[in-house]
Amino acid sequence: MRELIEKVPLKSQTSLILAQDEDEAFPQEALQFIQEGLLEYFIPQDLGGKMKGIDQTMVMGRLLSRRNLTTAIALGQTLLGSLPVWLYGNEKQKKDLANILKAGGLNCLALTEEVNGSDLASTQTSDLAGKITGRKWCINNATRGKALSVLAMNENQVLNVHFIKKSDDYQGTFKNIDKLKTLGIRGADISGIEFTEFSQVNSQIGKAGQGLEIILKTMQVSRLLCASFSLGASDTTLRRAFEFAQARILYGKPIIEIPAVWEKLQKSFQDLLIIEAFSLVCARMVTMNPEVMSLYSAFSKFYTTKIADQIILRSTEVLGARFYIRDSEFGITQKMMRDHRVVSLFDGNSDVNISIIAGQLKRLQSIGPLEVDAKKIFTMKEEAPAFTGEEKLKLTNRGKDIIWESINHYDIDEKQTLLAEREALFDELKNIADMQSIEAINIVHRYTELTFRANYALFYYFNQNDFAWDMKDSKLPLKLVQGKFLFSHFKVQIND
Ligand SMILES: Cc1cc2nc3c(=O)[nH]c(=O)nc-3n(C[C@H](O)[C@H](O)[C@H](O)COP(=O)(O)OP(=O)(O)OC[C@H]3O[C@@H](n4cnc5c(N)ncnc54)[C@H](O)[C@@H]3O)c2cc1C
Repeated sequence: MRELIEKVPLKSQTSLILAQDEDEAFPQEALQFIQEGLLEYFIPQDLGGKMKGIDQTMVMGRLLSRRNLTTAIALGQTLLGSLPVWLYGNEKQKKDLANILKAGGLNCLALTEEVNGSDLASTQTSDLAGKITGRKWCINNATRGKALSVLAMNENQVLNVHFIKKSDDYQGTFKNIDKLKTLGIRGADISGIEFTEFSQVNSQIGKAGQGLEIILKTMQVSRLLCASFSLGASDTTLRRAFEFAQARILYGKPIIEIPAVWEKLQKSFQDLLIIEAFSLVCARMVTMNPEVMSLYSAFSKFYTTKIADQIILRSTEVLGARFYIRDSEFGITQKMMRDHRVVSLFDGNSDVNISIIAGQLKRLQSIGPLEVDAKKIFTMKEEAPAFTGEEKLKLTNRGKDIIWESINHYDIDEKQTLLAEREALFDELKNIADMQSIEAINIVHRYTELTFRANYALFYYFNQNDFAWDMKDSKLPLKLVQGKFLFSHFKVQIND
């Protein structure tokens, strides 16, 4: 998979990527990858696909994103639209979808309606005895896609999800709405679809009324995978900022020697390591301990995206005017910045994820006993099981928090400091009754940051001997850049 994505050096493609973005054209590289069978990596192995653990899907997403977020998000949307079928579909639906992807057909998930936005419970697209009528708006791949998973309200006022194929065996009609003009990912097919009494045999996924559960569990995987967009975009923006800082001479020396510039690069590198560690651990949990993903995917979606936006911002600051000039040698940075802004708003925006964490926070107060093999989860060199769709995802964590249970269990350096800070936060929480209040949300922000730090302490403890570089004090190792590897704890070669 890496060979496929990294076949051509990124820098040789950058002008084309930028030109296609200016033209709002679907990325040529995406079409190439599809033709070369990349969508097979989104199909579980028992359906004849090449999908491995979610940690491997994460690597793939990072490599795609570091080149072009438009490509990564268009292809990632195909997995997002497929997850409801992999998790809840019947044999025929799974087989049909696998065949569509093997033939290079894109897929999508159509939840949003212009009037309802995040409020999925108010979905107006109706499903009356299997006949779907309504309009889905701002949907990635809605027009190009060969299939879609659609959320609709049935006659009993409960939600269903339908897997719809754009083949000719349907009744009623559908038509696509025009591509919308977006700030970023300009070449992506952000359009929509309008159904009128549309029906297709065997389209309902799972049982009647199971729609919300299907979507919530789908997002436990997809929200986590959004970290791959963030890691990839951060990698390229930081890499370009770093290169610029080495080459740009001011006052007779490279600007990398100016402490303010160095600090921005160094801080961004440290931040990147912290979000990488969280994404990698949680990606393993999807197939090892799926019962914690309701909370951990929300942590990841909210905080990883936020940190990546900060890394990107700092990188733009280092580049100065060259970042702002769209066709400069560093034009990729402005594209990454525009493209990445969408990550915090789709697939459940940051506020929605903060509110999910807030809803579970009180139950996390007392740390339970460690009942899982944490060493196995946190040790990256052991391969995680492949994703099958049989993972037992749960709607809430019911107070289970493997990261903190592990902190409590193992004798790591920062243990006492971390636990004391956690206790202080829960002391503050005792006086807060409304968990959606601003006071509660402030605590969610701090608790999330603390959990990322706790995870990093464990990640370091279990993997330090396997790191590819000397990571002491997280100093930016120059050979990461010069040797052309991802900014990572481990060696992931790239073709820059
Ligand atoms: C480029 C792009 C691609 C997209 N692709 C898809 C796709 O493929 N499929 C799809 O279904 N949708 C897609 N969307 C839609 C996206 O998921 C929605 O924009 C998102 O769900 C939010 O809806 P909204 O923008 O209407 O905001 P609203 O829901 O109207 O929210 C407005 C404000 O209220 C806040 N808010 C909402 N709910 C809460 C809450 N619970 N707690 C606190 N604050 C809250 C929000 O943070 C925001 O500030 C895409 C959007 C874009 C821009």
